[in-house]
Amino acid sequence: MIFKISFLKKKIGYIKRGLFGFFINKIEKTSKINKNIKKNIFEEIEYFEIGNGSQKIIFISAIHGNEIGTVKLAYSLINWLNGKEELKKTFTFYIIPCLNKEGYSQALNNPDYFNGGKIGRFNDNNVDLNRNFPTPSFKKESIYSFGKNYGEKELVYCGEYGGSEPEIKALINFIKNKNIKVAYFFHNAGKDVMGNKNYLSQKLVKLYSKKAGFRFVSDEEWQKMGQTGTAKEWCEINNVAYIEIEGSNRWGNDWKIQKKAIETILKEMSLTK
Ligand SMILES: [Zn+2]
Repeated sequence: MIFKISFLKKKIGYIKRGLFGFFINKIEKTSKINKNIKKNIFEEIEYFEIGNGSQKIIFISAIHGNEIGTVKLAYSLINWLNGKEELKKTFTFYIIPCLNKEGYSQALNNPDYFNGGKIGRFNDNNVDLNRNFPTPSFKKESIYSFGKNYGEKELVYCGEYGGSEPEIKALINFIKNKNIKVAYFFHNAGKDVMGNKNYLSQKLVKLYSKKAGFRFVSDEEWQKMGQTGTAKEWCEINNVAYIEIEGSNRWGNDWKIQKKAIETILKEMSLTK
């Protein structure tokens, strides 16, 4: 009986989130990009470059293609940053609205609102791109945790070797070539934030957590999830401040919630340059 009730509760949760996801996805469209922003391509992945300041920041959305809302968030961010003349003097922003294009189009074509929005997480080779970084912990097969307190786990394929996937190769080369030292990865929908051991990362993540009202995930907690070959680990090894943001819902842009956090961390970074 207890088992049945908890099963029912879980189902109701899925339905509630599914209905919310369905409506928010219909209401919140991806914003149009102002035409005067220069648009470049690397290996078919688009990025936008805004500003010409000395501090470089990269924002990456949809490393998991099913996280539709992160693409909308990136477009809102691009439009907002483009109007911020002061910030453009201090920073150079690189924004990749959709790193996993294959997964993203799968998710758009098969929106599984009522099953946790899982379709489209992987790329065309069925690889979880956030387990494909060339790091000491890389394994061909690893774990993906989800659900309440990340209590549910599934095995995921991580590629034949670390950095085997074109999306990850391109991203790594890009970060290295541009000498970028601060990287934001937008995910959803865990409503939490986490950094790596880099001092700046820890500082910014805590600030983000406070402003967006997202839970701060400590390194100890993260270690317990047993993830391998992640962007977090790669950034740590390569001395890049890593900021991972798990937004509040799968399908919506989350801009209202995250805007003030982004504004605050940019202000903080301008002060500490
Ligand atoms: Zn994700």
